[in-house]
Amino acid sequence: MTNNPDNNFRDRIVTMNEEGRRNWIYANQPKGRLYNIRTIVSVILLAFLFLAPHIKVSSGEPLLLFNILQRKFVLFGVVFWPQDFHLFVIGLITIIISIVTFTVVYGRIFCGWVCPQTIFMEMVFRRIEYWIEGTGDQQRIRAKGEDTFDRVGRSLLKHLIFIIISWAITHTMMAYIVGADQVKQYIVSSPGENLSVFIAIMVFTGAFYFVFAYFREQVCSLVCPYGRLQGALLDNNTLMVTYDFKRGEGRAPMRKNEDRAAAGKGDCVNCNKCVTVCPTGIDIRNGIQLECINCTACIDACNSTMRRYKLPEGLIRITSQNNIIKGSSFRWTPRIIAYTALTTALIGAMVVLFTLRSSYETTILRVQGTLFQKLDEGNYSNIYNYKIVNKTEDEGNLSIKLVSPKGKVELAGNTMLVKKQEKIQGAFLIKLNKKEMTGKSTDIVLGVYNGDQLIETIHTTFVGP
Ligand code: SF4
Ligand code: SF4
Repeated sequence: MTNNPDNNFRDRIVTMNEEGRRNWIYANQPKGRLYNIRTIVSVILLAFLFLAPHIKVSSGEPLLLFNILQRKFVLFGVVFWPQDFHLFVIGLITIIISIVTFTVVYGRIFCGWVCPQTIFMEMVFRRIEYWIEGTGDQQRIRAKGEDTFDRVGRSLLKHLIFIIISWAITHTMMAYIVGADQVKQYIVSSPGENLSVFIAIMVFTGAFYFVFAYFREQVCSLVCPYGRLQGALLDNNTLMVTYDFKRGEGRAPMRKNEDRAAAGKGDCVNCNKCVTVCPTGIDIRNGIQLECINCTACIDACNSTMRRYKLPEGLIRITSQNNIIKGSSFRWTPRIIAYTALTTALIGAMVVLFTLRSSYETTILRVQGTLFQKLDEGNYSNIYNYKIVNKTEDEGNLSIKLVSPKGKVELAGNTMLVKKQEKIQGAFLIKLNKKEMTGKSTDIVLGVYNGDQLIETIHTTFVGP
């Protein structure tokens, strides 16, 4: 729905002019309650992002690590192995479905308040710009001005800081992959010692710098697949940053002591503040647009205007289209119920799977291509391979015993020491008497013990004559 009769805002995206060239967005800095809360949320999230790979829990593992090269993953100090991959897949699906559910109900609030791209762009890079080059309006004037010492100097300083922050972001991302200790090693060693790593750091620093210095809000409106999905996820019941056109239209500047209702005017005084603070450069009064990241900057801007002219706040607010058009409040639609049920089920499955996650993971397989060996009269043996992963923080003193039928396990050394977070593998023999066999293939049950404690039961078969 649009309040712009020309619909001309739909002809092209705001960041492009008629010739297809870039329209630079010089957004003013918002001021207000929501912007203050966003700042606090951003500081907390940024602190977590930069510190998480450096914080070590009591086991000595970092808080978070995603070492895809060595296939080692650490979540809040707990090590996950490739054998736990199913947990990662379910976790990833749960996160995606949760974001979808959240979007169906609350719109794109994730983009404006939590997404790292927005947080870095609006709360780090754009704030540096305000600090060095002034407000959005001042930046626009500067950009059109002469190349003075002041203008060039400010621009150089800004870009130098942008490059340093991009370098810091690259190192932080790298710490999530190879670990903070390894990154410190890279920093203190000469580039020649790790040339490929050095080149990767330069490439990624350049990429982050390009995104935040030049590409900017176009990531949200042109590249991000989540942004593209919005059209399918949002409906008229979704809560979004919305302009109350019923109340606002008949927009006109405020005249002193006028009775706007009597004059047929709406509450929008056409101050344009909602447009000048918008980081994606759109006019929210044109209705819901894909470029809107729900950052709520226009709400703060409009509320300050409303207060100034003693009009009720909330001309732009978080509400649904149905609330504006029909006056109806939030409703549980079948779509919201379905998404919520799916998310709840997935979160429940995650909790169960994490709770049941075993401390040890054992694989025992009869050696491929081998048959039985006849020992002495009536006794036969099969050879098996084993692999045991110790997922705990303690060393394991393991042994394998035959639970049923009666027989013997012959293992070199009889016990196996497995260090914490390590795996061992090897082979062993099982000896059975013909009396214990039920045919050519006999089902057998093996117990894996840590000391005297049974930790796993494995079912396999024994091949006989
Ligand atoms: S329209 Fe408002 S909420 Fe949407 S991006 Fe612009 S300022 Fe943010
Ligand atoms: S900030 Fe509010 S009053 Fe000013 S133009 Fe936007 S909607 Fe109208």
